[in-house]
Amino acid sequence: MTATSRELVRYSETERGCRIDLSDNTNLWGAPPSVARVLGEFGAPELSRYPSAYSPRLKRAIAKYAGVDESMIVTGCGSDDVLDSAIRAFGAPGDLLAMQNPSFSMIPVFATVSSLSVKGVDRARLVDEMASLDAQIIYLCTPNNPTGEVLSLETIEEITSNANALVIVDEAYIEFGGTSCVNMLGRFENLLITRTFSKALGLAGFRIGYGIASPAIVSRVEGVRGPYKVSAISEVVAAGVLENDLEWVAEKAQEAVANRNRFARALNSLGFTPMESGANFLLIPVAEAREIESRLRDRGIAVRAFERLNGIGDALRVTVGPWPVMEEFLEALAEVMK
Ligand SMILES: *Cc1c(COP(=O)(O)O)cnc(C)c1O
Repeated sequence: MTATSRELVRYSETERGCRIDLSDNTNLWGAPPSVARVLGEFGAPELSRYPSAYSPRLKRAIAKYAGVDESMIVTGCGSDDVLDSAIRAFGAPGDLLAMQNPSFSMIPVFATVSSLSVKGVDRARLVDEMASLDAQIIYLCTPNNPTGEVLSLETIEEITSNANALVIVDEAYIEFGGTSCVNMLGRFENLLITRTFSKALGLAGFRIGYGIASPAIVSRVEGVRGPYKVSAISEVVAAGVLENDLEWVAEKAQEAVANRNRFARALNSLGFTPMESGANFLLIPVAEAREIESRLRDRGIAVRAFERLNGIGDALRVTVGPWPVMEEFLEALAEVMK
């Protein structure tokens, strides 16, 4: 797939204002408890000055959370910013970026903006095809969006050791399942892990993400990213969550996982076959997904519809939240399928 940036269209946001929004995989239990207090204490005088250029306080808190040295952390305005910066830093026009198909929809956009071409790889041939493509950047997502699929550490290791490329492993949903490949960083100089505060950590509105990699990769990505991408208030709030709310975060993630498994069983008994997921959402293959999405919307429920996904066909991606919300969704789904 090769496109030019002139052909890109705006990200299609799901309509706001639905009674129940299960469309974007954010934390449906809300923001962690320390946020309101930290916001209340944040002084207006601090807002007339620039924030720190590269967020050292936040880096220290993330380093502790991730179990690495702070020289291995790069922050960004969402992990989108880290991903985009990494692709701009390591990709030259005409280079190839290889990724799972289906996977995160923003990656082809960032690649296209940097004049890279993109090749999507089927699940069944992932290791072999990644080895034969000779891409300059490999993007892997685990648990994968939108399928929920978890890649084993062996698979990631095999791909990374065969690769003559920057390997990006997107762990946006790692708090819900799968094993982080953070322990592989010591052995692979070409590995960049990205993560976000937008999902399990409940701070999507603040736009904070980060990467974990060798200090050499970190400085290259920061050089391209530029200063001041994390606002002063975002840095303070995010560091506060890591310092105060990890128990809350773990508890809600556990509840999301339990509800996800219960949700899958309930869908099975309605005759659906959701894909096995390690994330806080399920992908449910269903014919005419757009039509079903629109009927659900009429009942005040937002989900994300996908059409003609590679190897899957049409499907709905549904975020998992508190159980009463999932019950409402299940009732509405049964009705619209009649
Ligand atoms: C949600 C998501 C992100 C996070 O994006 P932010 O810019 O950090 O909000 C990154 N990767 C994947 C696969 C996602 O689903």
